[in-house]
Amino acid sequence: MEIEKEKNNNSDANTQEEKKSNNNSTEEQKKSEKEDENKNPEENNVKEKINSVPIMMRCFLCEDYCEEPVQILCCNEIFCKKHITEEIMKNFACPNCHKACGLNNIIDNKKLSDDIRWFKSILSELVMGENERNHNH
Ligand SMILES: [Zn+2]
Ligand SMILES: [Zn+2]
Repeated sequence: MEIEKEKNNNSDANTQEEKKSNNNSTEEQKKSEKEDENKNPEENNVKEKINSVPIMMRCFLCEDYCEEPVQILCCNEIFCKKHITEEIMKNFACPNCHKACGLNNIIDNKKLSDDIRWFKSILSELVMGENERNHNH
């Protein structure tokens, strides 16, 4: 760094030329940065989509994919069977609408269970594709 400074001080003409060429290269850099900026949000969106759990598959309590999804009859909110069972045993109320309820107020949601399994398999294919693309870079 210090050596470079000295060089610049020694000759103004050189500095000016250097500045010129620097300007050109920074402009080129800016251009490519802009292109990168345009690309990145899209990639981030894809990653966000892959990482986020769709609300209709998300357990109200753990905010992850429902495991053994069940639906509660008071407000149709969905939960992992394990999580809502624990909650009802503790509070005897729905954690979403706070109505009193017992274990007979929840029903298995077989269709959702299938949907989640299907959705996860699609996702893992997507993630695998993404990883392959990164390796090829
Ligand atoms: Zn859960
Ligand atoms: Zn409820």
